[in-house]
Amino acid sequence: MTVSPTLRPASIPVPMATAEMLAPPAFHVMTKPRGAICNLDCAYCYFLKKEDLYEGSRFRMDDALLEDYVRQYIAAQRVAEVTFAWQGGEPTLMGIDFYRRAVELQARYRRPGMTIHNTIQTNATRLTDEWGEFLHANGFLVGVSLDGPREIHDTFRVDKGGNATFDRVMRGIEILRRHDVEFNILTTLHAANADDPLRIYRFLRDEVGTRFMQFIPIVERDNATGFQEGETLTSRSITGAQYGRFLVTIFDEWVRNDVGTVFVQSFDVALGIWAGMGSSLCVQAETCGAALAMEHNGDLYSCDHYVEPLFRLGNIRERPMIELVADPRQKAFGEAKRETLPRQCRECDVRFACHGGCPKDRTLLDRYGEPGLNWLCEGYYRFFTHIDQPMQSMVEELRAGRPPANIMAMTREADAQLLDAVRRAGRNDACPCGSGRKVKQCHGRTTATTASLTG
Ligand code: SF4
Ligand code: SF4
Repeated sequence: MTVSPTLRPASIPVPMATAEMLAPPAFHVMTKPRGAICNLDCAYCYFLKKEDLYEGSRFRMDDALLEDYVRQYIAAQRVAEVTFAWQGGEPTLMGIDFYRRAVELQARYRRPGMTIHNTIQTNATRLTDEWGEFLHANGFLVGVSLDGPREIHDTFRVDKGGNATFDRVMRGIEILRRHDVEFNILTTLHAANADDPLRIYRFLRDEVGTRFMQFIPIVERDNATGFQEGETLTSRSITGAQYGRFLVTIFDEWVRNDVGTVFVQSFDVALGIWAGMGSSLCVQAETCGAALAMEHNGDLYSCDHYVEPLFRLGNIRERPMIELVADPRQKAFGEAKRETLPRQCRECDVRFACHGGCPKDRTLLDRYGEPGLNWLCEGYYRFFTHIDQPMQSMVEELRAGRPPANIMAMTREADAQLLDAVRRAGRNDACPCGSGRKVKQCHGRTTATTASLTG
């Protein structure tokens, strides 16, 4: 089966000059040179099913399209830094020569003064020393998918034969280290690891030794199409309560020990929001639509999570990429994120930081019965209210020209004061933390230590 024609009304072609005015000055494309083809068979993968869209295809971006893509993508960006994001499926299945050629083409089409970056998201199981040398020499930033320690990782991340992959991933990470390749870890949060926040965080920090972490909640629709349709979720999906608890727990660890040395994407994004710079992540932005996805044959889609016939904008071989990005359908796609917010979100006091999350996760009715509340709402609300005070303090430090890492000493000082107050209070007194509970039901419940004061 090939991609069926779009079900949305046919778009009105936008002349090139107008397209340049309408398209955002910079946009991001996740490119899938091998489409959905992967050597693994992760149970929760949202992309494997996309293979069905291109039945009979060889799933390999050819050289002519690669050149066309590099040329068009660079030409469409009106900023000094351009990032190519290679994804899959498993993008290393294209082989190193494909990326050698991509780098060569980038150098050819790059405008004077322009800096080109490359990122590649991989399961790391196919990395070799040759890959390590190439990635290092060309400054690729590598994202490695790893869900935690062995038994957690191997719950869902298995190969086509159902075999564990943990050892192969760790070998891949070792290669990256050996060749001094910059990498970050992408950890999906799901039923098998959501209740182990500290174990996961400390494993990544202390055993994997990564300084950059990204946590992606799995909210997976239970249907046969793989499209964002139907309201039932799989049992692998994380709940809002679990997501909130996970983020709050690792934030409490980070804010006491790791600010400035460990970078967690959700915390970085939040600091940017509290500092008044807006969200650097589409999920927490008011509108979206500037992060698209391109299949191996040049089909461009509104978003990596909406690679579906309805959201296919066209093919860059048939219409210039900039025209597709400037298509009114893409603008409407991005604005729908704001326009479809239910009343509970519109009235919410953390809306400035949350903006209702990603539309793909909006499966619930809100408290007024309006559709479109995010499945993760409970978690978002807990997280954003929990970090408000420390975020404000970090922004104050930044504005005063001091390092935000000062928050660690402030938090420890506050811990010590609370500990002292808890020790002086009676077991039936109101807890000094302000929870409204009695000391014995709150911070006096366990032997008072700093850890117990993190709530
Ligand atoms: S639909 Fe979700 S993932 Fe896609 S661009 Fe919008 S916020 Fe981002
Ligand atoms: S926390 Fe919940 S109600 Fe508030 S903006 Fe986010 S999803 Fe909407």
